[in-house]
Amino acid sequence: MSLTYDLDAASIAAPNDLEAFWMGFTANRAFKARPRMVSRAKDMHYYTPEGRPILDGSAGLWCTNAGHNRDSIVAAIQKQAAEMDFAPTFQFGHPLAFKAASRIAELAPGDLDHVFFCNSGSEAGDTALKIALAFHAVTGKGTRTRLIGRERGYHGVGFGGITVGGISPNRRFFGSLLPGADHLPHTYDREKQAFSKGEPDWGAERADALEGIVALHDAQTIAAVIVEPMAGSTGGLPAPKGYLKRLREICDKYGILLIFDEVITGFGRLGFPFAAERYGVVPDMITFAKGVTSGAVPMGGVIVRKHIYDTFMNGQEHVIELFHGYTYSGHPLACAASLATLDLYRDEALFERARAMEPTFADAVMSLKGKPGVLDIRTVGLVAAFDMAPSVEGPGKRGYQAMETAFHDEGLMFRATGDTIAVSPPLIINEAQIGELVEKIGRTIDAVM
Ligand code: PMP
Repeated sequence: MSLTYDLDAASIAAPNDLEAFWMGFTANRAFKARPRMVSRAKDMHYYTPEGRPILDGSAGLWCTNAGHNRDSIVAAIQKQAAEMDFAPTFQFGHPLAFKAASRIAELAPGDLDHVFFCNSGSEAGDTALKIALAFHAVTGKGTRTRLIGRERGYHGVGFGGITVGGISPNRRFFGSLLPGADHLPHTYDREKQAFSKGEPDWGAERADALEGIVALHDAQTIAAVIVEPMAGSTGGLPAPKGYLKRLREICDKYGILLIFDEVITGFGRLGFPFAAERYGVVPDMITFAKGVTSGAVPMGGVIVRKHIYDTFMNGQEHVIELFHGYTYSGHPLACAASLATLDLYRDEALFERARAMEPTFADAVMSLKGKPGVLDIRTVGLVAAFDMAPSVEGPGKRGYQAMETAFHDEGLMFRATGDTIAVSPPLIINEAQIGELVEKIGRTIDAVM
């Protein structure tokens, strides 16, 4: 059976069926039987090819933090495309890549001063892990090869990322992964944390599991620990109070590098340029992507502390310091988009706006507490997650049902994982739109429960 849809609304001369595109992280057959298609976007909304507005409750995929199709970002991309389409950043350079790196480093706390560019969060995760291994190797600590992630962590889909990631379906079909990885326990316990606003009070002690891993394997075998300050893909699990500080202390004690994956939490999602600032902890590296261009052009990267960069720069001149990089690292269109995006964040004070909006957002989402079937609501920054009771057919169906219902019946887009709805609107959302968002979610939950 060939499934069709009026793709011509996108006015591209191409075959008008849905078969060829194998969609990632998607139930392809269900999608193609009843597509959720968008073809235009502006500010807080997508529009279907038929012109129906869809409120964007997820900033696309946690990325369009400045809202959609902002004029200045569009203009910067157009200008750059006309001026210079591509330039290498291996052995050659172009000014915008240096400017973008400086602007991003300025936003990072402490001496996180240097930026290695790539094109996605997955590449950023693998790049950070490789930098950690290489750092230890060049400092004569080549025994430090063990990488520590966390249960329920998501660091993209590269082999490094799925090795340290803690989501079993993302790992289970892909062989033996990288050797020598271990996982901290996740920090969620519904009984101790249900209906938390901001950082849960309970859970900092879960960081102490790192001491156990050190005791088991010896610190001299451990290269790095990577965690998200808020686990996004597994349902918006914020770091408990004091948890990240404890991780930092233990890493310092044993010479282990600490990496924050800020692919979601970077660029304002938690009301700060990076969550590291919110939590008062300076990791050794921060990975970023998504919000760096407000999703307009793919871009990612790793911000590293000065001592790491300096270590690599101590060798012989004229010798390549790190054998790693991507053809599109620092792509001119991405750099142009990034600079325009960072200007917008600054000029509209969008990070501060998100911080100021957090209590209003939190109160609004918590108003759904008590709805039949809602087991937990968590919120931090401009993120909220709603856990629904599983259906009698088994766990994992409610989220999909909710996503379909929300799109088709409510004109709302959000992320669904298992029985959880995750919401992360663009930072430009206003109070009326928060109200509308929560009403739509409430009706969606009622419809599926
Ligand atoms: N890390 C985190 C925390 C993420 O949320 C994601 C994507 N959702 C990634 C890494 C991977 O990013 P990408 O899909 O751009 O490869």
